[in-house]
This record gives sequence, C-alpha cells and structure tokens, in this order.
Amino acid sequence: MTDLERLADLIFKDVDETIEDLEKRYPKRNLKDGAIVCRFAPSPTGFLHSGSLFTALVCKKFQKQTDGVFILRLEDTDTKREIEGSGERLLKELSLFDVVPTEGYYGTYEKGEYGPYKQSQRFMIYNTVIKELIRRGDAYPCFLSEDELNEIRKKQEMNKENPGCYGKYALSSFLTPLEAINRIQNGDKYVIRFRSKGSHQNKIKVHDLIKGDLELTENDQHIVILKSDGLPTYHFAHLCDDHFMRTTHVTRGEEWLSSLPIHIELFERMGWEAPLYAHLPVIMKLDEGKRRKLSKRLDKEAAVSFFLESGYPKQALIEYLFTLANSNFEEWRLEHMDDDIYNFNFSFEKFSVDGALFDIEKINNISKERLSRLNKKEFTDQVLSYAHTYNSELEQLILRDRDYFESIINIEREKENPRKDYTKFEDIIPFISFFYDDYYENIIKNNIFEFNPKFSKEIIDKVLLNHLDNLGLDLNEEEWFNNLKSVMKPLGFAQNKKEMRENPDFYQGTIGDASEIIRITLTGRRSSPNLYYVEKILGKQKIESRIKKVTNLLP
Ligand code: GLU
Repeated sequence: MTDLERLADLIFKDVDETIEDLEKRYPKRNLKDGAIVCRFAPSPTGFLHSGSLFTALVCKKFQKQTDGVFILRLEDTDTKREIEGSGERLLKELSLFDVVPTEGYYGTYEKGEYGPYKQSQRFMIYNTVIKELIRRGDAYPCFLSEDELNEIRKKQEMNKENPGCYGKYALSSFLTPLEAINRIQNGDKYVIRFRSKGSHQNKIKVHDLIKGDLELTENDQHIVILKSDGLPTYHFAHLCDDHFMRTTHVTRGEEWLSSLPIHIELFERMGWEAPLYAHLPVIMKLDEGKRRKLSKRLDKEAAVSFFLESGYPKQALIEYLFTLANSNFEEWRLEHMDDDIYNFNFSFEKFSVDGALFDIEKINNISKERLSRLNKKEFTDQVLSYAHTYNSELEQLILRDRDYFESIINIEREKENPRKDYTKFEDIIPFISFFYDDYYENIIKNNIFEFNPKFSKEIIDKVLLNHLDNLGLDLNEEEWFNNLKSVMKPLGFAQNKKEMRENPDFYQGTIGDASEIIRITLTGRRSSPNLYYVEKILGKQKIESRIKKVTNLLP
C-alpha cells in the first residue's frame, strides 16, 4: 500500500466503493438523439426568485422540446443559509407555473434512478471520488488556518499578486503523505483541496452555447472541494452531480461563468466529458437610468410570490419570460396569438448575451392581452382559484352570485377585439365593486362623487333625471347612444367636440361630459366598463335608486 493510499484510507475509512462502481450505478442514459438532460439546482435559502423561475423554465422548455430530462436537484450544502421548508416551497411555486421536473427532488419524495437528489444525501458519492483523487495525489488535506490564509492574502496584496491558494502559496500541497497522515493523527483540522496543474499565464478556449467562443484564464487555484464540515463545495458537487446524473446541458446563471475554468479543469483531470454550458443572462432592472441586478432586497418583483399574490395569471409571467429568453419569440407570438407558447422552439443562439431587462409594464400588457382572451368561465375559474388562496373578499363576492359576476366581467369579452380591462386579479374589486349595492352604499356614505365643478347641481340633476326618463335599455348599443345624444342635446351637450367648437356659446359640454355625469353617479368613478353594459347589468331599478340618491345628496 502506498502512502497516498494510506492517507486516503485514513480520511475515508467508510468508503469502500470506487468510481467504477458509481459509473455502473449511474449508467449513460438511453435517450433519443438530441434529447437534452438539464437540471435546475436551487439552494433552499428562501423564496423562488423571478430569475430562478426563468432558469427553471428554460430547463422545462428544453426538456419538453427535445423529449429530454429535467432534473430538480436540491443544493443544500450551505447549512448556514438554509431555510427550513424552502425546498418544498420552491417546488410548489414552480408547479404553480407548470414548471414541473421529470426527475429528482419532489419535496417529500424523489423520482429517478440518478439520486439521491439532495446534495446533503450524496456525501458517499463525493467521498468516493475524493478518496480516489487523494490516492492519485490530485487532492490533498490542507491544514492552513483562517489566520494563515489571511497572512498569505496580505502578502499577495503587497506583492500585487493574484489572491488565493495556488502555486507556492498552497503550502499544504508540499507536505508528504506521511506528514499529512501525522498531522491528521495529531488531530489537526483540515479541508480537502484540489491540486490544480494550471497556470494563470495560460488561456483556455471554451465554448458557451449562449456567449459563443470565449478565451478565459486557466485555473490555477487549489480550490477547496470538501469543507471541514464534510460537505462539498459548489464546484466539486457540480462536477460529481452533473457527471453522475449524466447532465448534457448545464443551464445556469451567468454569475458562474467566471468559475468555468475551474470546472473545465476538474472535468479534464477526471477524464470525464464535460457537459455543454449555457450561461443564462442575469435579469436586470433599470434603476434611475442605471442597470442593476434584480434584487431580493429592493425589488418586490424579484419574488415570484409577488406575482402570485397580486393575481397575475401564470400565463403572463411565463410568456414574459419567454420574451426575455429568445429574441425571436415576440415576432412568433404575434403570428400565433392563440397557440400554446410551448409550440415555439427555443434555441440557445437566440438568447440575449447581455443581461435581460425586467419590464413590469411589458408584463402588464401581456397580462391584459392574455386575460382578455379568456372566456368568462375560464376567467372566473382563474380568479376563483386566486381568490381562494389570496383574497377571501373577492372569493365571497363571486360566490354570492357567480352568474352576476360573470355577466360583469363579460362586458366586451368573448368578441373579436375584447377589452383589456384587467391586468391582475387584485384590481378586480376596485374596478367592479360598484355593481354590488353594499359597496355602492359605501360610495354614497363617503360621498365621493367627483363631478366636474363646471357643472352646477341644477345641470347635473337635469342630465340624470332626463336620462332616467329615457333610459333606452331595450335598445342596442348604437341606438342607445344615439338616444342619449338626442336627449342630452337640448340640455346643452353637443354630440361631439367638433359641434362644440363650432358653437361654443350654445353648448356647455359634449356628450362625453354628460356620459361622465351618469357614469360617476352610477359607479362612483370616472372610468368604468362600457356605460351601456353597466346600465344593462344594473337594470332600471338600481339605476333609478342610484340617481335618486345622488340627486338628493348634491348640495
Ligand atoms: N445552487 C446553484 C445556484 O443556486 C446552482 C447553480 C447551477 O445551476 O449550477 O446558483
């Protein structure tokens, strides 16, 4: 037995499997040509970030598109930052957007032949690989303390050298295996480092599916692969997990691009074929004219829960993320407005190379468009499912009388150019509550009717009472409007702006002003759904009672 083997045995007494055993246990996958195996690998450290939803969605899309595999791997090796229950929560939030993995960690259970899918349960795999690396002399125990590392850093700063543990600074790499054995037996603390053979004088060529051909500085750092708590670092876990899970494409945030040379060296030294890499653009935000990363701390829209709680339909956020992903998606969408967006084909070349800019207005527009295309039943079902979780007031309102609610939200829906009244479900109550008498009573109580001050009580009364005498609710929309115009004209309201301009002394306003008086009276608001339909839904009795209340209220 060599000294290196002795050292490896000392550190990993319990490991009796070999890398060959692992290769057999996790065989190459038998997939059809072109099938992509990708993974989403969140750390359970909090809520689902919009950027993470983006990353996960990209995986889901490629898996569907290529009939591949989408693994969810929980990267729970940073025990200090872990938040209890957040793994399950991430999964739940993903599933609300139909981003469901085909394999991996599912909260209370796992599915697939390549697990365990929680890193904290994969330590035997990491240990097996590290044991082999130590035997080969490619990894070694490092005994440098925090203080010693700080000293080294100071020295490097003074000499204007690259910081870190490499070359002559990787002091423990010069210990003989016997010296290392002695120190371990002596009880000295250590981590395991990888013995890099690279030099920062060299450049390596790498290809990223999104960024293209890159030239990066070769790695020379003796990175830590196993921490003193026995858990692997990200770099090492990435190597082992993506190798033994047989990942074909690593799609991850571009913040990892700078450590790619480490990963390339690790794969090369193992003699393993590296996966293809696609570093996804980071989602940015424009803040006072400057671009910055979307921040958990500063931006409410950084949390996916914000969209759920405000009641954005899931299609809106997904569709928006598609526009961020592929530059040719929007053009495709215009031609395929009613298609399932998953019919659009993603390609890595069409990803934006620079950070993608988050644009809430764009999400709002997509949302309005999507919501306007639902029929009243689909719309109401979605609202109810939102309201059930987030908005009991809205749920109650709908359940009082679902038909009434549907007739309200169906105003100018289910037609060629439906109106885009709703952006998110949270806005529904303020927009339509006046249809309900109890809410309307509150408007009366608070007397918040903001009529244009240029109209006196006398004129307002005249408009309202004349209208009440000539409601025309049996007419169609056009006839109703013509009728309204002819009733209002003798009261001094021109049929249109042009007529008013031509005869300014004769008219005190236009039909628009008269309609506004009626609208404010019936709804308490300056803007509302189409007045004709509002009146049809309210019906004569309610209209009459509201007009009487308002005319009595006016001073
Ligand atoms: N746990 C890492 C992260 O959350 C995963 C990165 C990767 O996909 O490799 O950033």
